[in-house]
Amino acid sequence: MAEIPDFDAIVIGAGFAGIYMVYRLRESGFAVRGLEAGGGVGGTWYWNRYPGARCDSESMYYSFSFLPDFEQEWTLEERYPTQPVILSYLQTVAERLDLLKDFRFGTRVTSVAWDDPSARWTVRSEDGYEATARFVITAVGALSAANLPAIAGADTFAGEQYSTASWPHQPVPLVGKRVGLIGTGSSGVQVLPELAKQAGAVTVFQRTAQFVTPAQAGPLDPQMVSMWKANYQEIRRRTKFTAGGIPIPSPTRSAFELSEHERRAVCEEAWRRGGIWFLAGTFTDAVTDLEANKVVADFVRSKIDEIVDDPETADKLKPRTYPWGTKRVPIGSNFYETFNRPNVRLVDLRADPIEAITVRGIKTASSEHELEVIVYATGFDALTGALTRLGVRGTGGATLPDAWPDGPRTYLGLSVPGFPNLFTITGPGSPGVVTNVPVAIEQHVEWIDELLCFARARGATTIEAMDDAATAWSRHVQEVASQTLYPTADSWYMGANIPGKPRVFLPYIGGLDVYRRKCDGVAAGGYPGYCFDGADAPALQEAGHGAR
Ligand code: NAP
Repeated sequence: MAEIPDFDAIVIGAGFAGIYMVYRLRESGFAVRGLEAGGGVGGTWYWNRYPGARCDSESMYYSFSFLPDFEQEWTLEERYPTQPVILSYLQTVAERLDLLKDFRFGTRVTSVAWDDPSARWTVRSEDGYEATARFVITAVGALSAANLPAIAGADTFAGEQYSTASWPHQPVPLVGKRVGLIGTGSSGVQVLPELAKQAGAVTVFQRTAQFVTPAQAGPLDPQMVSMWKANYQEIRRRTKFTAGGIPIPSPTRSAFELSEHERRAVCEEAWRRGGIWFLAGTFTDAVTDLEANKVVADFVRSKIDEIVDDPETADKLKPRTYPWGTKRVPIGSNFYETFNRPNVRLVDLRADPIEAITVRGIKTASSEHELEVIVYATGFDALTGALTRLGVRGTGGATLPDAWPDGPRTYLGLSVPGFPNLFTITGPGSPGVVTNVPVAIEQHVEWIDELLCFARARGATTIEAMDDAATAWSRHVQEVASQTLYPTADSWYMGANIPGKPRVFLPYIGGLDVYRRKCDGVAAGGYPGYCFDGADAPALQEAGHGAR
């Protein structure tokens, strides 16, 4: 029988997080293996290949900061990088750092089991691969476990069905076809204009109207790019200490300090700049005060009226059931404009709900919509879904859902009591998903690497988050969220898009800058909140750590 390989660390996932984690641990002298379900690197960008897929973060910020030579060489062409560009970026980084040999691709992990006596994890995959490791680091993404709604009759549909979250590698023939699109979140908003260009007819099935912000996408000015590149290190340095991982100025004034005319001017200017400039650039109180929020919400609704020709369609597209910004704001190009095309129509599922999928199409309460293709852009089981699907079993065989009956409880979003030597990059309670994610990922990866080096230097074999530390952190995550309007919406931030999921705020929205300082403080203090086991455990306990 073949011997089971054993590593210091197994990293699950080969997106931004997995690539950098494997690299850092390898550089720190750990024996590390990366496992990835996809056939190559890319993570979410490997799977989300739908037409129109591109990042909402701007190109110069959506990259690693630890490759100063490479960032000078990499070509920046468009304001927002497309999915093929990001994939090619990650592939090039992986090749350049000679990381491909450290990964096993096509390896979907289905079981991660802790063995207390040996203090090791056993990781198994769908295809029968098995390995053990002292540490497991999940780099599985916060928005990667697709949510495909169970709609009665879906299996009877005679046409083709696709999910934006796992789009085929070959182009999908859509020319002239009758296409139905379910979902108008970020993915639906991006795919719709592309579907409409090709298809004979597109019917959009909208459950909740969105406040879509224009990306104002386009080519980058080469002179601007040269300027950025000349100042890249300084930009990177400032970026690290921003709340959202992007160095744009924060608003300085409350909506109440301005006249109606001035408020409109602020919104117009932010809208003109587009993307994050609108999301984070209007008023200090846009997501904390309902009246200030209404200024922004009314502005977007007025824009919908301006853009959409048919008043009835415009009316259906206007969000009214939650404050602006409390569901992740989709950033789009020509989303509202697409409804002016003669081949696009909107079905408001609040008024006319889906009853079933039939052999011919989608049957709503009022009619049957005949379709040849159905596209699901129905989102993800955010932050916890990809973790729970790994089949993790910690001390005593407990699963993550066992440990989290009332929602996830983590220390710094990175560690879970009862799951020693497991680290969760961009896990629940981390700010990753509400930031420009690569910046948060770099912070997580570097912090985890330093913690593992700290433990190794002291002969510690297990590192486990203490119960009270996780309780306190998770309470803090909720407290920070409760000072905003975010918890009032039925969003994936709240787990509200998944039936039965506990309703708690999942990411940390205290800001990446604040979070970084807190993590740095924990490291500087010798990692309070963790307990260590091994050779120097007594010394560590004297220094105020717990014992396992
Ligand atoms: P999403 O924002 O959760 O949107 C899912 C959509 O599907 C919503 O409109 C939702 O309606 C609808 N839906 C779900 N189940 C349904 C059902 N049973 N019947 C009818 N409609 C249903 O998912 P997403 O668009 O994939 O985006 C998720 C996140 O991924 C984004 O918020 C963003 O953070 C990230 N993302 C980023 C980019 C980018 O950077 N450009 C692109 C794509 C995604 P309700 O609103 O009523 O639930």
